[in-house]
Amino acid sequence: MSVSIAIRKKAESLREQIRHHNYRYHVLDDPEIPDAEYDRLMRELLALEAEYDELVTHDSPTQRVGDAPISAFGTVQHELPMLSLANAFSEDELREFHRRVMERLELEGDAELSYAAEPKLDGAAVSLLYEDGVLVRGATRGDGSTGEDITHNIRTIEAIPLKLIGKSYPARLEVRGEVFMPKAGFEAYNARARAAGEKTFVNPRNAAAGSLRQLDPKLTAERPLDMYAYSVGKVEGGQLPARHSEIVDRLRDWGIKVCPERRVVLGVEGCLAFYKSIGERRNALSYEIDGVVYKVDSLQMQRELGFVSRAPRWAIAHKFPAQEELTVVEDVEFQVGRTGAVTPVARLTPVFVGGVTVSNATLHNIDELHRKDVRIGDTVIVRRAGDVIPEVVSVILDRRPKGSRRVQLPKTCPVCNSHIEREDGETVARCTGGLFCAAQRTEALKHFVSRRALDIEGLGAKLVEQLVAIGRLKTPADIFQLNATELSELDRMGTKSADNLIASINKSKSTTLARFLFALGIREVGEATAASVASHFGRLANVIAATEEDLQRVPDVGPVVAARVRAFFAEEHNLEVIARMQEYGVVWQESDPKVVAEDGILGGKTFVITGTLPTMTRDAAKDLIQAAGGKVAGSVSSKTDYLVAGEKAGSKLAKAEKLNVDIIDEADLLKLVSR
Ligand SMILES: [Zn+2]
Repeated sequence: MSVSIAIRKKAESLREQIRHHNYRYHVLDDPEIPDAEYDRLMRELLALEAEYDELVTHDSPTQRVGDAPISAFGTVQHELPMLSLANAFSEDELREFHRRVMERLELEGDAELSYAAEPKLDGAAVSLLYEDGVLVRGATRGDGSTGEDITHNIRTIEAIPLKLIGKSYPARLEVRGEVFMPKAGFEAYNARARAAGEKTFVNPRNAAAGSLRQLDPKLTAERPLDMYAYSVGKVEGGQLPARHSEIVDRLRDWGIKVCPERRVVLGVEGCLAFYKSIGERRNALSYEIDGVVYKVDSLQMQRELGFVSRAPRWAIAHKFPAQEELTVVEDVEFQVGRTGAVTPVARLTPVFVGGVTVSNATLHNIDELHRKDVRIGDTVIVRRAGDVIPEVVSVILDRRPKGSRRVQLPKTCPVCNSHIEREDGETVARCTGGLFCAAQRTEALKHFVSRRALDIEGLGAKLVEQLVAIGRLKTPADIFQLNATELSELDRMGTKSADNLIASINKSKSTTLARFLFALGIREVGEATAASVASHFGRLANVIAATEEDLQRVPDVGPVVAARVRAFFAEEHNLEVIARMQEYGVVWQESDPKVVAEDGILGGKTFVITGTLPTMTRDAAKDLIQAAGGKVAGSVSSKTDYLVAGEKAGSKLAKAEKLNVDIIDEADLLKLVSR
């Protein structure tokens, strides 16, 4: 069936519109239409092309991922070599470059020499060949004279037009630029890969280069790649302007994306000001850069300056301090934070990176350490970007020495020797010695004396810090041994305020079990939970003796809180501090534990609740079960009698099925309790 002229025109018009909107979106960063409208145009074109095979052209915007995988890369001879640039690592080196340029051009004043300046992207250099405005070839830089043919992958990058827009472009135009992965795309890609247990990219540069060297363009299409053009190579059948900056502007007019940060600057001072301004914004830019590039803007001057060996005399890359360097892991230590979080830290052979000497780098957490397989003795890439804490990026496995040592999470806290606990599904391990641990001391004390806890008036945060600093307060028990004489000798503390403080310390000794439990600062145990636990158990000894299951019978105590309370009281160091406080006269009224309806209708039965119930919250269901004498546990085991399953029940349901646990729904539960 032949295609009518009207339909041909329709398809061509859709392509023109899509190209125009691509240009607005990618090049100008100023879309005219919402994404939904763009998608509609695209669908319309796809439908037409599906109906009439012969309408499909290789430069159609629908044909980005159409190419079949290749078995090997072809080679591309660059007609004009893709040169590398000389580098300046300091202001002096840049001034020296500028002086030589001035001298060769026999110029007198700075004002006579303008440079085109732009950020130096950290990606992969590419060459794009357009013939009659149609993209016909994409190539890597390779060794500068021979690159690899990556046309099939280049076509998948939406920022690269398959066809130029406008009319005045040369018949044959080679565009050069940098393909890169924006930081946000890089982070998102790695997050997804990590969640799927796949390999992550070390940095955006490797991500870009690796993505371009895929045999299957479908894989490249999944990578969030972008491109900025920065120059032209071979040009035939057309005239270009006489200045580099104007050529780049022209590329943009033809629909090719260029860096919005590019500027024309005057003389060496202009270069330095640009360097400083970009350097200050380096971390805020959406892409990685490793410096800035200055090119003599006049092509006439460029020709006069010529080349030395394989680098132009008219351009230089002014590098920022490297953000990644190699060094050796001498040891791995574990640091304990103010809240007890235990973090592995690599002790490194000192290395100059990101503008400072770095000798420690974080490994984030034990899972991350094991995922990266960092061992003592390894050579690693350490990264310091901006003000971010230096981190170990990856291990150079080739350089792993014999006798490198694996690192395990210690069983006890390196600061206070209390047990380290890590709950299921948590990445962070914590020291359980909350009352005792020097690393957690200041925070624990500030909480202990606060108004809703023991409420010791006159013992503020500043004074706590002061007393910790001089070693007078190690645990909350020490508070009750302070005396007025020593307090009055502190800075800004007279006899009168010392006496007042002792009085309020003494007053705080008479408290309630709820306040006392809250004051202990057990993670996740807020005022309300402390009050429920206190009223449920009545006596501190009962709380200390309670199992996780016992604890979960308290209203609003779930498995997580129960585990934390249990871990806290299982730590001897904490019990010692509590015993000392009681010895020093801290008291509260105790009472008999609440009688739990063991003989209720559900007495002796253990329930687990999972998923979303149709009418009630899980907490409400739990209250209902407990009121009828049943127990609610956090996980399914052979002791579970019933699993109450709602919508989206997951692994618990599967486990219950496996263990032949009775599975009931909300309606069944209501029947059970109303029997
Ligand atoms: Zn500790």
